Amino acid sequence: MDGTKRVVLITGCGKGGIGYEYCKAFASHGCYVFASDIPDRLHDLADLASESVEPLELDVSSDESVAAAVSEVLASRGRIDVLVNNAGVGSTGPLAELDLDDIRRAWEVNALGQVRLVQAVAPRMAARRSGRIVNVGSVVGAVATPWAGSYCATKAAVDAMSDALRVELRPFGVHVIKVVPGAVRSGLGRANAERLAARSWRLYEGFEDAIAGRAGASQVGRATEPGVLARHVARRVLSPRPPRAIVFGHMTGLFAALAWSPLWL
Ligand code: ADP
Repeated sequence: MDGTKRVVLITGCGKGGIGYEYCKAFASHGCYVFASDIPDRLHDLADLASESVEPLELDVSSDESVAAAVSEVLASRGRIDVLVNNAGVGSTGPLAELDLDDIRRAWEVNALGQVRLVQAVAPRMAARRSGRIVNVGSVVGAVATPWAGSYCATKAAVDAMSDALRVELRPFGVHVIKVVPGAVRSGLGRANAERLAARSWRLYEGFEDAIAGRAGASQVGRATEPGVLARHVARRVLSPRPPRAIVFGHMTGLFAALAWSPLWL
């Protein structure tokens, strides 16, 4: 075991998503990576397994699973240098018609999932006066997007929590970095498109046409490749002076500049 490698724990690393690419990117910087996901997706992680990437079961919506996974990492490596809160689920559809259980699930995974991990990991980082916590949000947290109102709300919560956490943990030498991607050519984007295609919503006649006409080709064409985003994030998170926010993707800088004031904190 190489004790000098930085230990990175990443959530939501199933194949096809950004988390999978984060694992490769952090490993390429010489880190030891715990690549985690829910039990159903663990088979996806087999390709990643190597001398510097170790698959790990971790369901961010379960207190027990988070406690067990963090204990396992600490027992094996003694510390966590970087936590990447990446796991997420979508909830696509008009807010007035979305299933409440879908909305609850999105909060449970996207927002509370990050809190669970932070509560399990941050006190140990603070005690060591060292660590980096990366919370993955989305530009739609700053720019409300029709048919993604529930998802947007959870990402707005990630944004607000990350800003508070950054100020709270700074005195203890722990950096909190929020990542704000725009459209990414990855799992959630595809899942949303499929769900949109599969349903016609009661309230909105002609919904699919509207989506195809407005949100279609131009946005998708400008979506970022997950590997490009992941490599950029890993490099900046591991730099000696990590940034407070990493805003990445077509037009995201402009949206963020218009929407946020607290960057100066
Ligand atoms: P994207 O990479 O575009 O954000 P994905 O759907 O590919 O979207 O990635 C989200 C990841 O989060 C998936 O690997 C998924 O299995 C994972 N995930 C979903 N729910 C949970 C959960 N409760 N705990 C941990 N990971 C989860």
